[in-house]
Amino acid sequence: MANLQTWNDLATEFSAKGVTLVAVSKTKPASDIQALYDAGQRDFGENYVQELTEKEAALPKDIRWHFIGHLQSNKVKYIAPFVHLIHAVDNVKLLAEINKQAIKNNRTIDVLLQMYIASEESKFGMDEDEINTLLKEMKSGNTLTNIRICGLMGMASFTENMDQVKLEFTRLYTFFKTLSGGAFAGQPSFNTCSMGMSGDYNLAIACGSNMVRIGSLLFGSR
Ligand SMILES: *Cc1c(COP(=O)(O)O)cnc(C)c1O
Repeated sequence: MANLQTWNDLATEFSAKGVTLVAVSKTKPASDIQALYDAGQRDFGENYVQELTEKEAALPKDIRWHFIGHLQSNKVKYIAPFVHLIHAVDNVKLLAEINKQAIKNNRTIDVLLQMYIASEESKFGMDEDEINTLLKEMKSGNTLTNIRICGLMGMASFTENMDQVKLEFTRLYTFFKTLSGGAFAGQPSFNTCSMGMSGDYNLAIACGSNMVRIGSLLFGSR
């Protein structure tokens, strides 16, 4: 069940701070989403393509759907007609496919680049050098006409050590600012730093996040 009181408290706090709340509804039923929608929430995050397309078909059309999980190239076509923001893009091949499907749907698709900040082993995300390389490749190719890179996203280590988490969030925010004044200077649409979940959103916001992705606090544990 959706926790409306928690939602109300968080939504009020975040709107005062200029932070976008993405309600992460993965594995939760459409009725939970509808309950938060009725209260006023519009941004929802999902991790699985099939689950997202089913929910999109069943729920109000003005929901802004965020795809926050790892996205396989061959599945982009299913969400391209409607997705609001794809958070976890970490390679050129995926960018090219998103661009292709955006053209087919006669639209521009907004994406975030996933930066790898955790100390854990993970296959996903890029470090600063890899992101710089990707941006150079994009620039020289100059063919990705229908995607817009709107910022960075990242996930901190799963640890109780908040000093470490703080270092990781700070690293992401620092690179976000570097790009804002560098490769993306003069592009106001590069404005989103997506970091922070149920367990660490306070710290993420203190470190500069302006988009948090919160699931279990709103919908209960999965
Ligand atoms: C599931 C998920 C979240 C939400 O996690 P909670 O701890 O339930 O708030 C946020 N971001 C990503 C990428 C996720 O997969």
